[in-house]
Amino acid sequence: MRHQADCIFCKIILGQIPCKKVFEDEEVLAFHDIHPVAPIHFLIIPKKHIAMLAEATLDDQAILGKMMCLAPKLAEEQGAEPGREGGFKVIVNNGAQGGQEVYHMHMHVLAGSRPWKVPGLG
Ligand code: 5GP
Ligand code: ZN
Repeated sequence: MRHQADCIFCKIILGQIPCKKVFEDEEVLAFHDIHPVAPIHFLIIPKKHIAMLAEATLDDQAILGKMMCLAPKLAEEQGAEPGREGGFKVIVNNGAQGGQEVYHMHMHVLAGSRPWKVPGLG
């Protein structure tokens, strides 16, 4: 698996920085965000270092699809209510103008009883 030495999320994947793990398999890792902005807030990342969504290629479509399909399952496992009354929010920030701060592509999954607001989204 390609990792980048100065990447904080690659260090989490390698166990060099601790995290509160939600899910792991050979291709993806999910862990709680260190600064949650909703009652449930975790990140799903590919183990392969992809700096940003805009750098993903069609070779990455299976892993990106897996991340998307895992989101509802993991959100419910973490306590998100199912169905239309419950739900969750998925966000991918891309680049500075997209609000990205960590340059290892990640999907935010946010859920739980409102009110809560994602900074920058209003
Ligand atoms: P971005 O703004 O790049 O989409 O989001 C990066 C997210 O990573 C932020 O919500 C931030 O709180 C989270 N984060 C940054 N460093 C760490 C860390 O070391 N551990 C964990 N668990 N989350 C982190
Ligand atoms: Zn990385």
